[in-house]
Amino acid sequence: RKPIVAVVGRPNVGKSTFFNRIAGRRISIVEDTPGVTRDRVYAECEWLRYNFTLIDTGGIEPSSTDVILSQMRDQAQIAIDTADVIIYLCDGKYSYTSADEEIAQMLRVSKKPVVLVLNKIDVYNKPSHFYDYYNLGLGEPLMISSVNAMGLGDLLDEVVKLF
Ligand code: GDP
Ligand code: MG
Repeated sequence: RKPIVAVVGRPNVGKSTFFNRIAGRRISIVEDTPGVTRDRVYAECEWLRYNFTLIDTGGIEPSSTDVILSQMRDQAQIAIDTADVIIYLCDGKYSYTSADEEIAQMLRVSKKPVVLVLNKIDVYNKPSHFYDYYNLGLGEPLMISSVNAMGLGDLLDEVVKLF
């Protein structure tokens, strides 16, 4: 069967923007305020000679902190249970948060292949907090900009290597 690639991360890190870029269509809803990705959305994608199914696990993204946390756990669990490769998207404009650490921990213990990605790096310079992300124990972060379509090819190269 086709490999499944799931995108997880906190609300507003750009999961739906990223998903739509890769899908080449506006399937998932993008909003400035969290709360608008409805359910899980799927797209059939191709990179090089690989076909895979991409899932935006955003769900209906809540705004209260404890609901965000419980939903992120659910998302991570969905990804762990169903995905062959997990793209863990973080907001590269900032360092990681305690919620990011918690999800990283779940992903690490799952032993599923995870690609750690810093989104919103709209210029080629590495921000100083780039190095903080090594503490998540998920290896070297890849830098992308979903808005500028920067770094997406390198990211997909890494993803298909893990199939
Ligand atoms: P989601 O909640 O994780 O699905 O995030 P969205 O895709 O809805 O995006 C949340 C906000 O971040 C929107 O205002 C997007 O335009 C913005 N955004 C997404 N990707 C990027 C990026 O690469 N660079 C910048 N500067 N903004 C981005
Ligand atoms: Mg979304």
